[in-house]
Amino acid sequence: MKKWTSYSTDIQKEKFDVIIIGSGMSGLTTAVLLAQHDLKVLVLEKHFKAGGFTHTFKRKNYEWDVGIHYIGEVHNQKSYARRLFDRITDAKLEWAKMDDNYDRIIFPDETYDFIAPKEKFIESLSALFPGEEKAIKSYVALLDSQVKSGRKYFASKLLPNWLGLFLSGTMTKQFFKNGSKTTKEVLKQLTQNEKLIGVLTGQWGDYGLPPARSSFAMHAMVARHYLDGGNYPVGGSRMIAEYATDVIESLGGRIVVNGAVNEIIVKGNNALGVRMDNGDEIFAKKVVSSAGMMNTVNTFLKNTGHTSQFKSKMKKIQPTNSYVCLYMGLKQSAKELGFNTTNLWIYPGYDHDQNIANYMKDPNSEFPVVYVSFPSAKDPVWEKNHPGCATMEAITLAHWDEYRFWEKKPWKNRGESYENQKESISKKILDVVYAHVPQAKAAMDYYELSTPLSVRDMAHYPAGEMYGLDHTVERFKQKWLRPKTDIKNLFLTGQDVTTVGLTSALFSGMLTASAILKKNLLKSL
Ligand SMILES: Cc1cc2nc3c(=O)[nH]c(=O)nc-3n(C[C@H](O)[C@H](O)[C@H](O)COP(=O)(O)OP(=O)(O)OC[C@H]3O[C@@H](n4cnc5c(N)ncnc54)[C@H](O)[C@@H]3O)c2cc1C
Repeated sequence: MKKWTSYSTDIQKEKFDVIIIGSGMSGLTTAVLLAQHDLKVLVLEKHFKAGGFTHTFKRKNYEWDVGIHYIGEVHNQKSYARRLFDRITDAKLEWAKMDDNYDRIIFPDETYDFIAPKEKFIESLSALFPGEEKAIKSYVALLDSQVKSGRKYFASKLLPNWLGLFLSGTMTKQFFKNGSKTTKEVLKQLTQNEKLIGVLTGQWGDYGLPPARSSFAMHAMVARHYLDGGNYPVGGSRMIAEYATDVIESLGGRIVVNGAVNEIIVKGNNALGVRMDNGDEIFAKKVVSSAGMMNTVNTFLKNTGHTSQFKSKMKKIQPTNSYVCLYMGLKQSAKELGFNTTNLWIYPGYDHDQNIANYMKDPNSEFPVVYVSFPSAKDPVWEKNHPGCATMEAITLAHWDEYRFWEKKPWKNRGESYENQKESISKKILDVVYAHVPQAKAAMDYYELSTPLSVRDMAHYPAGEMYGLDHTVERFKQKWLRPKTDIKNLFLTGQDVTTVGLTSALFSGMLTASAILKKNLLKSL
């Protein structure tokens, strides 16, 4: 496990071309690509580990990823995603392909398997929905065309403002044909079978919004991403930041943890550097924020007089909901427990919007979703590194308001009532887990629940947001969610610029590096 370098006040004496706030997938990608173009970069990370949502944590002999369960496309060596991952990790990062049955969608009356590749997906679902084969084929074709149209949509984010006025409409026309509709609206054009719609949208948790609220563009990107199967980073998700950091450092860049940025220093309309929580000031030719729009506008720019220009735009978008995750450690190996790599999505009914509405109205009602992942079964080197034990994770929605009561209490010391709340949610999740994975019960050795407050304190999303900004139709229309801001030398990157997802954050880093270098780096892949 890598030992990270902590922030030290001496860094102020060094000279940097670019300061990058945040060391998640997007910040790391931006840093590597700029360092590869001879720019001296400094990555400042607030947490005590680098990697953002790719970091892991340990308890006893167990280790869990916090924000990665499966990644599509990277098993194809020629895919852009794989080539970009190879570039930023010096091809050291390896991927383990999951079972072809990557997701299992479970309802009280029936279970449906998503099986790769897409021909199998169509075949297996058509067998379960007689008479719907045509609709399922049209659906898969629509995923393809929607994702294809996304290339121009994302490329339009690189256009200078003046050129965007002329070209953006043409470049995004195809994308918005269905991207300006909700997932539900588009699926309703293909089928009236509500059960089929419930199944096809059974991965809504991957992007955080149910069918009647999400843009079809977002749904298509996620569903299409996994159609050819899922993969897991060998050694766990922390390997991503470890390898990328080696590349950054080998090129003369710096990456430091415990380095909390308090604000971006802006003079007139020019970003000059950052002020740290301890008051230190570090200057650079350019500043990139990968810490999300909420942090960037409400914290980093709060004293600059530039918030008002963002604030009216921010009314069109909102942060995603939060979540709780139960991290489980089991005292037998994944093999002994008969675990395989298929993720489980457990639902109380086919209408996902209704499931959420019911839960939001009454938190004592059934969870609207429980997602269960088996990371130790996905990792081929787990047994070597952690012999004789296994891990599981189970995630469900949570509302920030339910945890507001403890928001001022410090990490690890939030008192008995907080621990009681955690225990009662943990027990409720365990009941669902044991109903579907009964062999886990006797082997359960350890469990710990993360809450929206953990997400705030470890990943630094102010309301414990799971995925940054909500992926509504309106969000995709916000042209200002792009790398270049109206403040000179201030750039954005990350999931709020593109969309949620590891590869999406990876590509946002490439977009931002392209904007800074004034060179389309995608061409170099
Ligand atoms: C529970 C969960 C499961 C997920 N599962 C998957 C999955 O299976 N597959 C997939 O593709 N995607 C998954 N995702 C989504 C994916 O992890 C994210 O979309 C992606 O990692 C976001 O990367 P990012 O660089 O935009 O942001 P982040 O990783 O959030 O990085 C932002 C960084 O900025 C830092 N920061 C914030 N404030 C400051 C400050 N003041 N000073 C310095 N640094 C600061 C943060 O600490 C953080 O390290 C999941 C997400 C979650 C939450």
